[in-house]
Amino acid sequence: MTAKKYLVIDLAYCHDCNNCFIACKDEHCLNGDRWLPYTDEQPRHGHRWMNIEKKERGQYPRISVTSLPKPCQHCADPKCKEAASGAVTVRGDGIVLLDSEKAKGRRDLVDSCPFGAIWYNEEKGVAQKCTFCAHILDGKADWGVSVALLPRCAHSCPTSSIAYYEMDAEAFGQLKAAEGLERYRPEESPDGQVWYKNLAKWTRHFIAGGLLKGGECAEGVTVALTGAGLPAQETNFFGDFCFDGLAPGTYTVVADGKDVTTVELEKSVNLGSIAI
Ligand code: SF4
Ligand code: SF4
Repeated sequence: MTAKKYLVIDLAYCHDCNNCFIACKDEHCLNGDRWLPYTDEQPRHGHRWMNIEKKERGQYPRISVTSLPKPCQHCADPKCKEAASGAVTVRGDGIVLLDSEKAKGRRDLVDSCPFGAIWYNEEKGVAQKCTFCAHILDGKADWGVSVALLPRCAHSCPTSSIAYYEMDAEAFGQLKAAEGLERYRPEESPDGQVWYKNLAKWTRHFIAGGLLKGGECAEGVTVALTGAGLPAQETNFFGDFCFDGLAPGTYTVVADGKDVTTVELEKSVNLGSIAI
């Protein structure tokens, strides 16, 4: 079975430092034509081949902010390919490349990607996107020094939020199951080379609050959430609890065995302070 190349991005550890974005710029800007035919150089401004999106959930002061690094998803069945009339290739290792000659003048390709991963280079007159640093992985990066055979984003991440794997599809299937990996917006592209861990921090919701007893923070109270299938938890020093990873639905908060409140959950909610 042919080995494929994967990136796994863990949302639990990304802290929005932008090192991956900067490493991508370092690799692709001001380098002339040295990475052709993989890609022409990236313009200094505008393009975000590694784009980091942010989402805030909850209400002050019980808020969770998540960053989602979003390169081209290297889709197994790319929508950009349908529109590209030969300018897009899916390699045997899964990497999706835009042909630097055939993508000339193809401004229309920008709108063909449902993830906003294609950018138009006005200076060079060519559509461009993340190449998975295929020139490095193929051993064609002539930096004059030995470089790690990794995409630059994975190499530069200080928290190891971005991990690179080269393995066959069966082994990756086992990793996927063991780590609970998901595709971002699978309705657009269910399979490909970029996968996310802890994606629930982006796609799901939480119910949080704080319990008070006699006007004081109620530490160590057992809190359960009916309908969630999650284990009960104990309030912390501040009397706080938080159930995360919830789908929209109806949930009842139970503290010390008594119903406290019922929530019609549509998006993450801070219930505030609740006297028990
Ligand atoms: S380098 Fe790592 S921690 Fe920093 S923004 Fe990128 S993925 Fe997140
Ligand atoms: S994310 Fe967009 S540009 Fe990348 S392969 Fe999928 S459709 Fe094409």
